[in-house]
Amino acid sequence: MRGKYCKDQHATLVERKTVDSKIWGKMLNIRQTAENLFIWDLGKGDISFWIDNWCPKDWLSPISSVPNTDLKVAECWEDEDWSLLKLSNILQANSVTKITSIKIDRSKPDKIIWQSFSNQSLTKDINSKVFQWEHISWGTIIWNNFLSTSMSFFCWRAFHKLLPTDDILKLKGLRGPSKCRLCLHEEESLPHLFFECNFVQLVWHQLLSHLNIENKLFTWDKITICWHTWHKRNYASIPLIVAWFIWMERNKAKFEDDIPKTEKIIRNKLSYVHKMNKLKRFPNISNSYSSGQPDQIQVYRVYWKPPDHNTVKITTDGSFNNSGVGVGGVYRNHLGKCLLQFYIPVMVVDALETELVAVYWALKIAKMTSWYNLWLEVDSTNLLNYEEHVPWHLTYWIKKIRELNS
Ligand SMILES: [Zn+2]
Repeated sequence: MRGKYCKDQHATLVERKTVDSKIWGKMLNIRQTAENLFIWDLGKGDISFWIDNWCPKDWLSPISSVPNTDLKVAECWEDEDWSLLKLSNILQANSVTKITSIKIDRSKPDKIIWQSFSNQSLTKDINSKVFQWEHISWGTIIWNNFLSTSMSFFCWRAFHKLLPTDDILKLKGLRGPSKCRLCLHEEESLPHLFFECNFVQLVWHQLLSHLNIENKLFTWDKITICWHTWHKRNYASIPLIVAWFIWMERNKAKFEDDIPKTEKIIRNKLSYVHKMNKLKRFPNISNSYSSGQPDQIQVYRVYWKPPDHNTVKITTDGSFNNSGVGVGGVYRNHLGKCLLQFYIPVMVVDALETELVAVYWALKIAKMTSWYNLWLEVDSTNLLNYEEHVPWHLTYWIKKIRELNS
């Protein structure tokens, strides 16, 4: 590789070319960081005077503003010692004093020394220094129990800048007008879409206060710093879940002309986290996660209206509390006579899902019994409110209920 790409040039000075291989391109990306991890133990002096790390960098104060980068260390020696004359031609006086204090042994080869800061293996050490973000185990943040497979792939694409946001498409040569679909003001870019957009800031603001997390305005660049705090509190997946729902909302706005709504993202994210919490996938989150005020017990008087004589009236109810979750229903005719009843335990996330499951089973049993003229009475007005924007975890049941109708 050195022969192919560097020829006589120092690797840190080689310019990037369009014909470069991918691997070489990646090496160029990290060369400065990697260069700082090595020091040279001087031998023959066949290394660059100005570029290689053979002495502390602040020891080399040049006289000329454009030092000769081809100069080798050995060229500043005379016989077995430093040449004061040659050094004085290129270095300021205080630098000359420091450099001449370095002992040289021209008989041995120049040796590269790895500046290890830890006792882990060399490969691990290089990896953790060059890829600093590995410190917060991105692998486990992205691929874990808290995220669905689609979410994990979305995050992986986001971190590798593979999401087709307008700025990335531009880089790939697909030029066109760009507008953020969420705020309709700025151009769309990865940092704008997930952090800077006014619309998205509202989402973050509300969510962070909900999670009792300091409402820091974070950006794509600062997220690695914030992440340490989040990670400690077992919250590392939360920004990813939020980003996923932001992305979903953006796609709906872009491809289905849907009007983006902050409440929808928040509702979807909360219902998702709530579900994970319920399934004990966020072991520590319940300490600070508040899902709202507990329900107040209220008593209502209800009137049961009989159906007409061709119709079966079903009344469903669901119970959702700490001791267990169950759904049930009663089928009555126009005389009020009970024709059938059912009750079953279920596994759900919240009261709303309980009601939906009750409706599903009520309709399913009616279909099995060949009752088609039905009047269904539920006690949740919330179900009706969600007609338009259904939270994420309810879509499954709504789909199943629709399938019963077909
Ligand atoms: Zn925007």
